[in-house]
Amino acid sequence: MRVAQLGSGTPKIAVVAGIHGDEPCGVRAVERLLDERPTVNRPVKLVVANEAALERRVRFIDEDLNRTFPGDPDAETHEGQLAAALVSELEGCLTFSMHSTQSHADPFAIVNGVSETATDIVPQLPVAAMVETSNFAEGRLFSAVDTVEVECGLQGSETAAQNADRLTRAFLTAVGALPGDTVDRELPVYRLTDVIRKQQADTYEVFVENFTPVEAGAPFAAADGDEQVADERFYPVLMSSNGYRDVFGYAAEKLDVIETTTAAD
Ligand SMILES: [Zn+2]
Repeated sequence: MRVAQLGSGTPKIAVVAGIHGDEPCGVRAVERLLDERPTVNRPVKLVVANEAALERRVRFIDEDLNRTFPGDPDAETHEGQLAAALVSELEGCLTFSMHSTQSHADPFAIVNGVSETATDIVPQLPVAAMVETSNFAEGRLFSAVDTVEVECGLQGSETAAQNADRLTRAFLTAVGALPGDTVDRELPVYRLTDVIRKQQADTYEVFVENFTPVEAGAPFAAADGDEQVADERFYPVLMSSNGYRDVFGYAAEKLDVIETTTAAD
């Protein structure tokens, strides 16, 4: 784990990259901040998490770090120990953690609950949606640390790296670390309701677009040509043919739209 800081004092804000070693976009954003060293109005901790996995360009060494929190200093796995070290490093910090996917190009935010922090910060980020994943929080960073996660785009793409940079700056502006204003946007909110499993197969297909509703009775994916059909209407989230080993992704319901706040007088 690499830890650095912008500004002086004890940071209450942290930016974390490289929870997954095959998602380099966030690391680029952190490195750019370290190169440019912008003047900050409050201190910011910068963390590159799983350096060993990043070096090997793999998601993890022993187990998925974002399913391992809070971890244990005496854990037998690299990620188990790293999770515990990260939790103590990030204690007391509102944390911004960057990821990328194989499923969706447009950035969106993932939160563990529609909290005041989430509804304040996330609409100020250049994201298309907010996804609430409290039903599936176990082992994730935000089960242990107050965290806003963002999916920056497609894994390994230049666009994801540029998005990571924009998202980080918007986050740091929203929390008052960088000067300037952010734009508040209307944001649909989704809640994950189910895991969509996939059976062992040689080829996988996904027929639907993330965040676009799938009607009951519609085929949405196939394993070796064997179609899976929706029992009821759902919104697919993080769905991809080969993004995860044993799941296609998640089913979600649409909760709400966060409206932009207009000044009342
Ligand atoms: Zn990730």
